Amino acid sequence: MADTADELPGLNPEVLPSHQALVGAIEVRRALPQRTHRTVGAWCFADHMGPAAVTEERGLDIGPHPHTGLATVTWLIEGEALHRDSLGTEQLIRPGQLNLMTAGFGVAHAEEPTGAYRGTLEGIQLWIAQPEATRHLDNDFEHYAELPRLQLGACDATVLVGDILGATSPARHDTALVGLDLDLHGPTEMPLVATYEYGVVVLRGAISIGGTVIEPGSLAYFAPGADEWRLDVREPARVIVLGGVPFPEPIMMWWNFVARSRDELTAAYLAWAGRDERFGKVSSRFASIDAPVPFWLLGERDRV
Ligand code: MN
Repeated sequence: MADTADELPGLNPEVLPSHQALVGAIEVRRALPQRTHRTVGAWCFADHMGPAAVTEERGLDIGPHPHTGLATVTWLIEGEALHRDSLGTEQLIRPGQLNLMTAGFGVAHAEEPTGAYRGTLEGIQLWIAQPEATRHLDNDFEHYAELPRLQLGACDATVLVGDILGATSPARHDTALVGLDLDLHGPTEMPLVATYEYGVVVLRGAISIGGTVIEPGSLAYFAPGADEWRLDVREPARVIVLGGVPFPEPIMMWWNFVARSRDELTAAYLAWAGRDERFGKVSSRFASIDAPVPFWLLGERDRV
């Protein structure tokens, strides 16, 4: 019964529904993590934010909160937002620009309205799990006002992280991975790295790959194996492609932390709850966000 697509590795995706969630005041579709696919390469989180109407003072109202063991990638396709972090960074971000914050052992940040922009806000917030080699080290923030762009068939591609066809993003990455923004208006052939697994998140429009239709509100997961896709356009589309070598280390993710054990997560929780120096301070008019008590501590607390 298997047709040709079933027999070609990397061409027959699993299409998994995203989960609706509320982040700050913005509705998001959470494409990653999925129960059956916690990571795609080192990519471990993907929130399609908006589209939402924001004002100068209300919108992405995400107060200071901590991260550890991961890098955050903020990418907007419409609107503007303001990033503040515990390194002292204050950075406005616009469509086509990349904010990349590496937490290492610890960092805190806030994501706010700009005080000036009113209109639609839409984008994607991504996390990249850091490998053992860097996850205990210093935090870092990078902003790129311009990124490499290239023409791929009937597609304008922007390289957020990694490289394709010799176009290389300057953004830091600690493992072999790629992140692309595709603005598709017709059939396009795209080279792949056969050892990478891939995730496709459609932000707008609709595409098909190997006969499978992919629309907003899902993650299409492709196992390694293919060296090329043909993307067909059902409706002009805006698409995020995430790829990478399957992450070799089992990770534990809880709240805003990526770690390897429950003890590490407990230590991060206690450090933020105690507002100790691990995560630093963020200057923000929004209130800091408290972590929920980890479920594995609830029993102990209740016994006290
Ligand atoms: Mn964050």
